[in-house]
Formats: sequence, C-alpha cells, structure tokens
Amino acid sequence: MSFAFYNRTDVIKEMKSTAYDLVIIGGGITGAGVARDAASRGMKVALVEAQDYAQGTSSRSSKLIHGGIRYLENMEFHLVFEALSERALLFQMAPHMVHPLRFLLPLYKDSRVGMFKMGLGMWLYDALSLFRAPKLHERLNAKQSVDRISVLQAKELVGSYVYSDAYMDDDRLVIETLRSAHKMGADLVSYVKATGATKQNEKLKSIKCKDLLSGEEFEVQGKHFVSTVGPWTDELGENLLGQWKKMMRPSKGIHITLDRNRLPLPCAVVLATGADNRIIFGIPRHEMIIIGTTDTDYKGDPKDVHSNVDDVRYLLKVVDQYFPGAKLTRDDILASYAGVRPLVHDGSDTESKTSREHVIVCDPRNMTFVAGGKYTTYRRMAEQSVDKILRTFFSPKERSKFKNPNTKCALNNKVTVEAFSEAQSRVSELVQKTHFPKNDVQVLVDRHGMEAFDIVQQYFSPDIKSTWEMEAHFAIDEGACGRLDDFYLRRAPLFLSRKDHGYKMLDDLSQIFAKRLVWSEDEHKSNINSILKHEEFELSWKKRI
Ligand SMILES: Cc1cc2nc3c(=O)[nH]c(=O)nc-3n(C[C@H](O)[C@H](O)[C@H](O)COP(=O)(O)OP(=O)(O)OC[C@H]3O[C@@H](n4cnc5c(N)ncnc54)[C@H](O)[C@@H]3O)c2cc1C
Repeated sequence: MSFAFYNRTDVIKEMKSTAYDLVIIGGGITGAGVARDAASRGMKVALVEAQDYAQGTSSRSSKLIHGGIRYLENMEFHLVFEALSERALLFQMAPHMVHPLRFLLPLYKDSRVGMFKMGLGMWLYDALSLFRAPKLHERLNAKQSVDRISVLQAKELVGSYVYSDAYMDDDRLVIETLRSAHKMGADLVSYVKATGATKQNEKLKSIKCKDLLSGEEFEVQGKHFVSTVGPWTDELGENLLGQWKKMMRPSKGIHITLDRNRLPLPCAVVLATGADNRIIFGIPRHEMIIIGTTDTDYKGDPKDVHSNVDDVRYLLKVVDQYFPGAKLTRDDILASYAGVRPLVHDGSDTESKTSREHVIVCDPRNMTFVAGGKYTTYRRMAEQSVDKILRTFFSPKERSKFKNPNTKCALNNKVTVEAFSEAQSRVSELVQKTHFPKNDVQVLVDRHGMEAFDIVQQYFSPDIKSTWEMEAHFAIDEGACGRLDDFYLRRAPLFLSRKDHGYKMLDDLSQIFAKRLVWSEDEHKSNINSILKHEEFELSWKKRI
C-alpha cells in the first residue's frame, strides 16, 4: 500500500482491529520522528493526526537546520554540539530537503558583540562541528561585506562573519519521515482526532478517535500512548487524562516572504534587533526570501494563529534598518505565515529566554508527552523518547522482541547523497523529455533527486502543463495529500512564494485533485474556498497596514 490519502479507509479499518505497541497522537515532525524510530525497531506503530500532517507548527518554522549559534553565548555547548552532529546526519539522510547555506552576520559600531568576541564564537562553532561544516567561517571587512551583499546598510558597518548552516523544506521533511515510517510498517492516518481515552485501573488502554472527514468514531488499542501534539499538549493532557498540570508556554512567531528580485540576497543574513536583543534571519531559497521570526507569548488556540499588523510592521522595520536601499513596502510582501512554538514552561521572565530544549515526561497513567525541541534534533529526540518509553513501560521480556533503532539511513533510499548528485548531472535529460523550462526541471530535481525521474516517467504526458501538475499527482499517490490546501500550503511552496499564490494554476491543479480523488462538485468548490479563506485569514493584516 502506498502512502496515499485515498488508502485511509483501509488504514482506519486496520487500526480498529490491531493492538499496537505504540499509539502516537500528532503528526508533526516530533510524531513523525517517533513513528519512524519505533517502526525501525520492529514495534507495531499507529499514528493519528487531527489535521493534515505538518499543519501545526511543523510547516511554520524558519525552515533552518542549525546548530544555534546564539546558544554559544549561554555556554550551552552540549546543545550546539548535538545539533551540529544531527545537522551533519541530515545532510546524508535527506540531501533533497536539507541544503547547505552560508549565513552573513554583519557587525556595526553599536553591535552588542564586537568582531573579536564573535570571531571566537565562530571558531568554536566550527570546532563543535568537528570542522566538518560544509565550509568553515570567513571574516570580512566592511567593504568585502558590502561587495558580497550590495543592499546591506554600509553606515557604521565594522565587518562581518560568514558561516555555514542549512535550509530545508520543513513540511516535506515530515512527509518523507512519515513515508519512511510507513514503509517500515507504521499505520498512519490524517484528519483523525484523538478525543478521549478508555482506562483500566487508571491506566490508558485505548484512545477514542474521530474521523473528521466521515464523522465516524472508533478506538485504537495500544500497549503505550505518546503525545506529540506540540502546542496542543495541555489540551490533550486534560482531555485524555483528566487531572492535568499545565506545562506549556506557547509563543507565536511569524514570517513574511518576498520576491528574490526585490531583495537579492546571495546568502542568508543574520539581523540582530537592538531593543529586544533578538535575532531575525533573511533567508534566500529557490523561490523566495523568508524574513523572520518574531517571538511573543501566545494564549489562543494554536489553530487560530495568524500574522497581525504589528508583527508585519516589526519585521519590515528590521529589514529597512539593514537594507534601506531596497525600500521595501507592504506591497513587496508576497505572503506571511504564523506558528506557535511548543515551548515548555521553565520559569523564564520572557518568551525569548524560555528554553528551546525538549522534555519527555512519562506519566504513570500509561502516556508519554514529548514536547519542545527543534527540527534539527528531531531524530535524536525521537530516539531518546522511545528508549525512555521502553525502559519505563515495557518489561525486559517485551523489550527483547525489538531491535535497536535504525534511523541514520537515508529517509528515501532513492535519494542518497550519491543518487542526488547523479540526478543533478542529468537534469538536461528531463528537460529534453518534457520540454519544460530548465529552471522548473532543476527545481523538480532539487526537490526529489533521482525520484524526479520516476515522477516524470509516471506522470508526464503531452497534457501535463507544468512540473507542478506532476508534483500534484505524486503528492496524491506518495505524500498523503488529500486536499488542495494541503498541496498549496505544504507539499508545494505555491502559496508562499508567488504574488498570485499560484492561483493561475488553480483550475488545472484542482481538476487533477477532483479527478484523482473523485470529488463531487461541492467538494471541489469547498476545496477552492478553503484556500481563499486561508488567504483572507492569514493575510488580513494587508487591509489594515
Ligand atoms: C516561528 C517558528 C520558527 C521555528 N524555526 C525553526 C527552525 O528554523 N529550525 C528548527 O529546528 N526549529 C524551528 N522551530 C521549532 C520547530 O518548528 C518545532 O519545534 C516543531 O515543528 C514542533 O513540532 P511538533 O511535531 O512537536 O508540533 P506540531 O508540528 O505542532 O505537531 C503537533 C500536531 O499534533 C496535532 N494534534 C493536536 N491535537 C491532536 C489530537 N487531539 N489528535 C490528533 N492530532 C492532534 C496537530 O494538528 C499538529 O499537527 C520553529 C518554531 C516556530 C514557531
């Protein structure tokens, strides 16, 4: 069975009749990591996700895989070392989703840290990566810095450092991790919400679930249950366990996206804000520049999070301070997105000081809560979680049935590092075959490596008008994509990276979904409406700025 949305009825049928070793609630990067880790040990795994996979925080990050240069200042060397080791692994595990990127960090006369101290930090950052960063750091004087980034504010610039980290596709990293877990035998289903629990002697025995598409209610039985619901942790704890002490301190972060031509950054730039001592990134990607993020306490429902006028003004002000020559205005903003950090309460005075470390809390009522952390370390966090669960809730005899985890291998065996570079050298073959513009084919190959060849082989025909139409077929068959907004907002960067949000292709793409998923006229309309509604909701600040 492929990892396709249209197989969900069979998956639910299987879930109703199976007793699982581990039942995971929440299909963001944390749940995906735990599912893959547990399945790789030979555990029988089920995962339910209430929305689309990655629709929570996991599609709303800065999309960086990074060691966290700012942790050096707090002497949290172990955190940086761990994150840099995982970064090195992710380059191997997912070369089509995690790409090396250079970051320029400019220092001005009034910067909090001077060139000398920052230089020490840079050496330490390279050392903690065991000098295996894609490229070691460079020191530039003011002129060299402006030569590198012509739009950079030159007034009072002292110099800059350039170092390596990486950018990634957050939503696709979740999908590929889940696809790998699925291949290892995990049963996964989206649009199914955990609504309650059945207990025996105060211990969870099964979870009550509701299929949000059909309305059907059913139960899933497990030996143990894991919550990976990020910012929804307190809500789920209360619903499933009853008595619950709140543990989360959610914080909101937004990003804006810009056309690369309006802010031509050849590398990422680290923008330090003076007043609140925060770091904001300007990140160039294939399709766009991402600017973000903000960090403010958030008390609402994570589902309702969206950017507001103050958030957008704040980011525009920082951009204007660093790139005054670009003269960016609200009209240059293509789109915005907002997410809720699942931070765990640690008593800090401000949201930005709250620790980004994860916690694994084993509740004796037979449920483990995994929360906090970051993308970069998701594989390690999953391994630690499953180790702890096995030690705490499974007997030595039960544990002996399972193998050691096997999660350091490529997420997709068609996209190893070698296969990825082979694909890069064969882009012209696909251009010849499809006659699509070279740039579009290059994007397809960058996103899928050698699997791009399978995609073209399977879906290209003279009726296909763009590479995105082939991507839509592939997302339906192999990416559990079942709705138009899943595609526009997560499987493909169309909404975020284009002034028209990709609506020029809406007719053609929606026809593909309608035909493949056998939609009624009403379903077709409601799918189109929900993208338009998302636009109205998320970009409502445009009317007020
Ligand atoms: C603005 C911002 C920028 C960030 N940038 C970075 C970065 O650049 N690099 C980095 O490493 N990290 C970054 N992070 C952190 C990272 O994105 C998060 O730590 C990570 O995505 C959290 O994933 P998660 O799976 O724990 O939570 P989520 O992605 O929120 O997943 C939880 C899932 O649980 C589901 N769920 C909730 N309730 C139920 C229920 N009852 N039944 C079933 N399912 C349910 C939700 O629908 C959701 O999909 C950033 C975070 C933010 C907010």
